[in-house]
Amino acid sequence: MTEPSIFTRILNGEIPGELLADDDRVFAIRDINPQAPLHALVIPKTERYRDVTELAQGDPELLAAMIAMAKRLADEHAGGEYRLIFNNGASAGQSVFHVHAHVLGDIEESKLVGF
Ligand code: AMP
Repeated sequence: MTEPSIFTRILNGEIPGELLADDDRVFAIRDINPQAPLHALVIPKTERYRDVTELAQGDPELLAAMIAMAKRLADEHAGGEYRLIFNNGASAGQSVFHVHAHVLGDIEESKLVGF
């Protein structure tokens, strides 16, 4: 059996993390290395999908639930507008192979402005 991902370990309370949202299939934490004033990670509770390509093929409703949670976080923390990033593969910057969306808000204060 493979080890639980770092995100599952945070969800289970084994390592610290700031939980921002939680529902039956999806949860969100604050990124430990924020790139914008709002930088959350929205994560399915299942580790079955390693990236958004697999998720979109296997469970599009779960992907829609992630995007709905991203919008709720943006409404609560960043005036409703947000950028959504999925890194797919190590060469694209993915370091945790348990699918997750980066939700960035208040972008004008971030390094990502204009991108
Ligand atoms: P990615 O590089 O797209 O796989 O994203 C992984 C993200 O997880 C990075 O932005 C990290 O800063 C973040 N991260 C890693 N460890 C933790 C942690 N313990 N708590 C919160 N975020 C984390």
